[in-house]
Amino acid sequence: MPELPEVQALADFLRGRAVGLAVARVDVGAIHVLKTYDPPPSALAGSPVTGVLRHGKFLDLDVDGIHLITHLSRAGWLRWSEALPTAPLKPSGRGPVALRVHLEDGSGFDLTEAGTQKRLAVYVVTDPWTVPGIARLGVDVLSADFTPEVFARLLADAKGKRVKTVLTDQAVLAGVGNAYSDEVLWEVRCSPFTPCSSLTPEQVTLLFDALQTTLREAVARAEGLPAEGLKAEKKAGLSVHGRTGLPCPRCGDTVREISFADKSWQYCPTCQTGGQPLADRRLSRLLR
Ligand SMILES: [Zn+2]
Repeated sequence: MPELPEVQALADFLRGRAVGLAVARVDVGAIHVLKTYDPPPSALAGSPVTGVLRHGKFLDLDVDGIHLITHLSRAGWLRWSEALPTAPLKPSGRGPVALRVHLEDGSGFDLTEAGTQKRLAVYVVTDPWTVPGIARLGVDVLSADFTPEVFARLLADAKGKRVKTVLTDQAVLAGVGNAYSDEVLWEVRCSPFTPCSSLTPEQVTLLFDALQTTLREAVARAEGLPAEGLKAEKKAGLSVHGRTGLPCPRCGDTVREISFADKSWQYCPTCQTGGQPLADRRLSRLLR
């Protein structure tokens, strides 16, 4: 699932390729991804791409005042092509291509979604802030507004909520998802279940620094990579997330996971939970 660093890299990549080119045509391959109907995607045709922005984990293609906004969600991705097929897409929703944007020089990109859980969302709007997920975004971890004081206040406001839940709540912090929150908690040796109210001021400072460092390093690693290289780069840069059963790179203990119905968290018992593996909550709904 793309998080802040990958979406930032996609935005940077797309800005370099698409700005200045006019949109020639937009094909819809899966009508259900469209969450808005006015203006229609066809309204983008004929106008130039004037900017590419990121809002949290949302990617925003500004086409001269009309914004094509996407949330790639878990299994969505952007696939760039120097020469897109010109045959129209069939809007059957069966293929992986949900939306195809043709640019005037024959290049362009597909928004794709793998798997059966269809969560990729596309919005065509004149004002990005009318997208509900953008309107409720909290402070962006890479923005100047994200300061130690702001972070401490957000954690204080979260009271007894689990730190992992708060770090990944887009209404609190914009851009951090399951992978980078696992990484940051491992970095500061904190259990994902720690209530925010139990964090010491020192832990809050460490968490703040780890958020900045982890995300900035991931952005730096992803910089300049083509869209197709980002997934592998993200995976290669992770210490604990997605590494269940492998040795912790710091202490050598076995990385464990806590599984939920549709996601899992990874952590190192020695580094984060006093050497005790947490009970697998797969069968428990109490902690959802
Ligand atoms: Zn460890």
